[in-house]
Amino acid sequence: MKSEKRRQKILVSLIVLGILSITLFIFNENEGYILEQTNNLSFGNLTQTQITEYSLTETTEYQCTLNMPEERTVILRIDDITPWNNLNLMEAMTREIIDRDYGASLGIIPKRMEEDRELIIWLQEINQNEKVELSQHGHEHSFEEFGNLNYEQALEKIELGKEIMMKYFGEIPLNFIPPYNLASNETIDALKDSGFKTYSGGTRDKLVEENFIREGYDATTYKYFTEEFIYAEEVLEDCNNSLDEKGICVIMFHPQDFTEDGKIVDWKYQEFIKVLEGLEGLDAQVVSFREGFCREFTSQTLQ
Ligand SMILES: [Zn+2]
Repeated sequence: MKSEKRRQKILVSLIVLGILSITLFIFNENEGYILEQTNNLSFGNLTQTQITEYSLTETTEYQCTLNMPEERTVILRIDDITPWNNLNLMEAMTREIIDRDYGASLGIIPKRMEEDRELIIWLQEINQNEKVELSQHGHEHSFEEFGNLNYEQALEKIELGKEIMMKYFGEIPLNFIPPYNLASNETIDALKDSGFKTYSGGTRDKLVEENFIREGYDATTYKYFTEEFIYAEEVLEDCNNSLDEKGICVIMFHPQDFTEDGKIVDWKYQEFIKVLEGLEGLDAQVVSFREGFCREFTSQTLQ
């Protein structure tokens, strides 16, 4: 009688466990399905279906004369364009900017770019718009990647990243954004020798030379040191102060500023929109680094 009861107990436990497993399985399946669907939705309007790969002989190299802009100038910088960020969000943010006829520099992490075909296709398409500039954001984006490198080490990483940019986008980038906004002096030398014209690091990075301009960010939607989300009102105030002071304001965004666990948080995203709406009141042109600093633009194909 006792062993019969025990058998029944075990049986009931097994049934409960079984039901629980099935529920969990269905839940996971659903979650996967929902994610897949959202991803597919955003690509409905893409005309391109295949990745174009460029050879060296098809690569375009730009030349320009550097000049500080005469009018008040806001530069928008979106860092961490990479497969691990939310593509729907990167696409939406860029769309909001170009729909207002503003420009932006997208900070692309070259390494592992090939892991996201859709991301490359989208970037190739968005790059047709001259308001959009593709900047090189380091090579692999390891912690303070360029912070302590000597000249040779820096040059090697810069060139590795640049080759990936050339392969997928058919052009040599002009602007470099170091991961964590940090780079050694030797990295700056290597960047100059590698043909970069502009550089955007941290808030204290300001230096105008004949063939190289350093212009760090002045306002941001997220302060990494204090792990603090910054509301549009403060971003616009910081930006306006910078414009009053030196005529330039660089705003740094990261797509992940507006997400939690990879999902877009609506109220945060609305703050991004408020920043864009508020730019109208700053009496400034809103452009990429290239449009802001490069004059007498010429391009040639590498031989
Ligand atoms: Zn970054």
